[in-house]
Amino acid sequence: MPQFNPGDMGACSTSPDQAVCVYCGSRSGTQPAYLAAAEEVGTALAQANWRLVYGAGDIGLMGQTARAAQNFGGDTFGVIPTHLLDAEVGKRDLTRFIVTQTMHERKKVMFMNCDAVIVLPGGAGTLDEFFEILTWAQLGLHAKPIILLNTDGFWQPLVALIDHVIAQGFAAPSLRELFRMAETPADAMGMLRAHFAQTG
Ligand code: AMP
Repeated sequence: MPQFNPGDMGACSTSPDQAVCVYCGSRSGTQPAYLAAAEEVGTALAQANWRLVYGAGDIGLMGQTARAAQNFGGDTFGVIPTHLLDAEVGKRDLTRFIVTQTMHERKKVMFMNCDAVIVLPGGAGTLDEFFEILTWAQLGLHAKPIILLNTDGFWQPLVALIDHVIAQGFAAPSLRELFRMAETPADAMGMLRAHFAQTG
């Protein structure tokens, strides 16, 4: 099993055009629309020849996204810590399957190997991942696009909370400009296409 070497960020030299990290639930949620959105995102990434970077699980929205990308011949890059191999059913048939020792290494390898992030519906882990890269953007540590996929209005309460934090003076209004909302996978893909057209 390929083990992560902390000196190596897992960087690939093969060439899908772009790499998009998908943060999403290890569960499927209550609405069929969530699984459908995950399937659409995985398919769209493969069709665009963009690598899927994700947490390498074969469960919930994570598994659905990866299987859809694979079904359309997409390049899949998964990163999972040793202690989650069983709980999240490590998906070993990915194009690249990396096992790390810790959660922090996992998140770092995922982040270092992507050009943009899409956040699908998910739970505490997904929220943790979103806030980590949002706060890194707030600190000026990166400028990768962050897109919340607002399937069936799922992220509306989160955006309301962020607006509240800003209104109460705990964050600058510019925090709101560090991420974008997409209503559908097609919208998210369009936003990323426009971004990549500018950045190359
Ligand atoms: P969840 O949204 O809770 O289903 O988790 C989605 C993914 O985020 C899973 O692969 C989790 O292992 C991962 N994750 C990332 N960071 C964390 C964290 N700090 N706590 C829990 N899960 C996390």
